[in-house]
Amino acid sequence: MTQMRINASRLNRSLEELGRFGDTPEGMQRIAFSPADIQGREYTISLMRQAGMETRIDSAGNIIGLRPGTVPGLPAIAMGSHTDTVPAGGKYDGALGVLGAVECIQTLTDNNINLRHPVEAIVFTNEEGTSFHRWLIGSRAMAGLLEPEDENPVDDLGVDLVTRMADIGGDWPKVSDAVRKPEELAAYFELHIEQGPTLHQTGIPIGVVTGITGRAMFEVEIVGTANHAGTTPMTHRHDALLSASKLTVAVNKLAAESETCRVSTVGSIEAHPNAVNVVPGSVKIGLEFRDLSMDALAAAEDEFRRATAKIGEDDGVQMEIYRHRFTDSVPIETDMQQLVEAASKNAGLAHMPVPSGAGHDAQAIASITKMAMVFVPSTEGISHAPQEYSTPEDCANGTQVLLELLLLADESL
Ligand SMILES: [Zn+2]
Repeated sequence: MTQMRINASRLNRSLEELGRFGDTPEGMQRIAFSPADIQGREYTISLMRQAGMETRIDSAGNIIGLRPGTVPGLPAIAMGSHTDTVPAGGKYDGALGVLGAVECIQTLTDNNINLRHPVEAIVFTNEEGTSFHRWLIGSRAMAGLLEPEDENPVDDLGVDLVTRMADIGGDWPKVSDAVRKPEELAAYFELHIEQGPTLHQTGIPIGVVTGITGRAMFEVEIVGTANHAGTTPMTHRHDALLSASKLTVAVNKLAAESETCRVSTVGSIEAHPNAVNVVPGSVKIGLEFRDLSMDALAAAEDEFRRATAKIGEDDGVQMEIYRHRFTDSVPIETDMQQLVEAASKNAGLAHMPVPSGAGHDAQAIASITKMAMVFVPSTEGISHAPQEYSTPEDCANGTQVLLELLLLADESL
C-alpha cells in the first residue's frame, strides 16, 4: 500500500463548491453552455491551475489540464469526465470524475511526485446532451466520432452550436483539430458514481466496471380508429392505446421475464386525440433495450418485432416500427479491469465487477486508447435527480483508487 493519500476534505469541499453553480431548489441546472456551466468550467480551470497544470480549451470546448511527465515522448495518461448536468440533476454525476482527477494531480504536486507519463485532467463538453439533444459532443469530437447531424445543430433557443462553442472558448468550425491520435494517449480513466443500486445494496465501496452498455432504441406508431367512447361497442373497437399498452407489457416482459436483454423500457407515449371521451385513434411510443451484449440486443429486437406483429394482427391495428441507430456496447479489456482491481487492493478497498447501464465519455475515448472506469456507490441507486448522493467517504475512496490506478498505469504502460 502506498503512503500517498488524496486529501478527502479538499476533494469534498471542491464538490460542494462546484455544486453551487446551477444549484436550485429543483436540483442542479448546470446545462452545457449555460451561464452556470461556464462558471463551473471557470472554477474547475482555477483548481487545475492551483494543482500546477497548464490548461487549454480545444476546438470542441473540452478543457484539458496537463502536468508534464519526466520521460520525453511518452503519451499522456488522461483522467476526466464532465461538469454539465441534466435538468434537475445531481452534484456528483460527472463532477466526481473531474474533481477526482484534479485532486489526484494536486496530490502528486503536494508530494513532489513526478510521473514518467504526462498526466491530463479533462472536462468533456456537453456529455449529457441536454443542449442540442446531441450527447458526448466533446468526447466524440476528441475520438473523431462526430456524425453528420453534429455539424452545426441549433438548440431549443434557436442558437447554433458554432455560437455556443465560442461562448465556452471552443472553435466548432475547426472541430477536427480536437481529434487526438491513439499515439498521444496511453490510457483514459474515468471515476464515476454508479447511478444504480448494486454497490449501495452490497456495501462494497468500489465497482470495477466491466463495460458500458449497448442501447437499441425504437419508436412504434400504432394506428387504429378514433371513435365515440360512448357509442362504439367494445367488440367494434380498434383502440390504439390499448394495443400500445399490450406492447408495453410485452416489452417489459422481454427483460423482466424472458431475460432476453438486461433492461427494457417503454419511456414515452403520445396518444391522439388524447381525449377522455374518444377511443384513441393513434399512439406513438418510444422504447429502448440495453445490454452489454449486442447479440442480446439483436435477440430483443427479434422478440419485440414478433410481439408487435402479433398484437397488430390480433387487434386489427397498424403497427409501424422506426428503428434508431444502435449504440454499440463498449466492453472494458480484462487487463484494464485487473488494473482497477489492483488499484483497489492498493487502496485497501473491497471491489466487485459491475456493468455500466448508463453511457459515459469513456465509451467514446475507448475508441482511441485503453480505458478503465471506477464506480462508487450511489445512495439508493438514485441519479439524474436532486436526491443523487454519494457519501464524502465514497467519493474519497473512489479518488484514492483513481490515484492508485494512475500510479500503477505510470509504471506498467
Ligand atoms: Zn455522467
